[in-house]
Amino acid sequence: MQKIKNYINGELKESISLQYIDNIDPSRGKVYSFIPDSDERDVELAVAAAKAAFPEWSLTPKEKRSKIILKIAALIEENLEALAQAESIDNGKTLALAKTVDIPRAASNFHFYGTAILHYAAHAHSMEDTAINYTLRQPVGVAGCISPWNLPLYLFTWKIAPALAAGNCVVAKPSEVTPMTAYLLSELCIKAGLPKGVLNIVHGYGHKVGNAIVAHKDVPLISFTGGTKTGAHIAGVAAPMFKKLSLELGGKNPNIIFADCDYEKMLSTTIHSSFSNQGQICLCGSRIFIERPIYEKFKNDFVERTKKLEVGNPFDEKSKVGAVVSKPHMEKILTYVDLAKQEGGTVLCGGKRATITGEFSEGYYLEPTIIEGLAYDCRTNQEEIFGPVVTIMPFDKEEEVLMYANSTIYGLASSVWTQDITKAHRIAQNIHAGIVWINCWLLRDLRTPFGGVKSSGVGREGGFEAFDFFTEPKNVCIKIK
Ligand code: NAD
Repeated sequence: MQKIKNYINGELKESISLQYIDNIDPSRGKVYSFIPDSDERDVELAVAAAKAAFPEWSLTPKEKRSKIILKIAALIEENLEALAQAESIDNGKTLALAKTVDIPRAASNFHFYGTAILHYAAHAHSMEDTAINYTLRQPVGVAGCISPWNLPLYLFTWKIAPALAAGNCVVAKPSEVTPMTAYLLSELCIKAGLPKGVLNIVHGYGHKVGNAIVAHKDVPLISFTGGTKTGAHIAGVAAPMFKKLSLELGGKNPNIIFADCDYEKMLSTTIHSSFSNQGQICLCGSRIFIERPIYEKFKNDFVERTKKLEVGNPFDEKSKVGAVVSKPHMEKILTYVDLAKQEGGTVLCGGKRATITGEFSEGYYLEPTIIEGLAYDCRTNQEEIFGPVVTIMPFDKEEEVLMYANSTIYGLASSVWTQDITKAHRIAQNIHAGIVWINCWLLRDLRTPFGGVKSSGVGREGGFEAFDFFTEPKNVCIKIK
């Protein structure tokens, strides 16, 4: 069986412990490869390599850095098929999704930041005839990048690409649940001629590798995407060390559907925003609020369409819903379905493990689930489930639905469906979320700020905001007279 390796100082190596963690294919429920069980000793090597590479990389002209980064983008595109296969096996997501979203987006991340760095400029502030200030934006040093399992290569590269383009060296850790495409990326970085030590990828558990990166004195900047609890722990370690910190955390996103919406567009998009990637996208809408005049119609149509979604073999084009990422995650989601029932909810469809025959019978498949009859403030409607489970609730008034939408500790994304542009703007202004989609979902322009408010995170990724994070501003004031 294949053994994944760490990528340290330009080389692929085993962990110092020589121990391995099982890597499970969730579509079959079987171990299919091994992940290095690295620890702080491997992180130490990676940080030392990154530190040693930093002076030269940070002074490499950005045109040259850009060329290498664009080469990585091109190699991802050339290897799209193999990377998509690997992502689908590792994560359980449908191959179609990996091919059309995850891997193209990983290439776009490198392409976008490889070109954006050529256009990134700093400010100058003139004090009339007294002085002029200009701001230098300098790379910080060794950046620690830690990412989750739901969009493995997509989110891993969303951090690494701007960090490298801005002139930092990186020690990165993908999720131990889905490490394969990060490993394949390290092979592509070697092919692209990325100088040794510029990017280092250490595999293993969060409490060992992740923690060692966050706590390392020579890593002054941490970019983290993952759960809110983990984010709070990381902030607790990093804040007293005065590290720069970007946290992209959990969500419990509302969809607000008004009766005057374009019904067909809304319905088909709501199916996607509920069940794409088995509901395991931090931007999925999991609380669906529907204006009362169309509630019954929506409920019937939504349930009918959802029941038609084929669940199973992620490599079959007919499948629209693949496996959830792991057995513990599947069990957690099912616990929430039980909780919803205890809280008085009615399961309109799904609510249980899907029965798949043959090769995939041991995989972690769940039927897409719709629940109604719950109060907006019950635990099911307040806590992140992160699976193919949504709740539907009617509303009568705009103020009422805003109160429901804003009632959780989270504030990542939201969707609003209405043809009334004034109402749409009003909701957008008053909703507590970092992202508002009006009459669409998951439409992304990489130049826009990305991130959440409240317990959904701190800081923004995307566009030049990422460069602002991955560089340190230094003001230089020159007296003229
Ligand atoms: P997680 O917090 O369990 O793990 C995320 C990463 O952190 C993994 O690489 C893990 O190994 C590492 N980690 C765990 N403990 C650590 C520690 N003590 N120190 C340092 N690193 C540690 O999250 P997950 O289960 O992999 O991902 C799902 C979560 O991610 C959901 O809550 C989801 O909403 C969130 N998410 C947020 C966004 C966003 O952009 N806001 C995007 C995707 C996923």
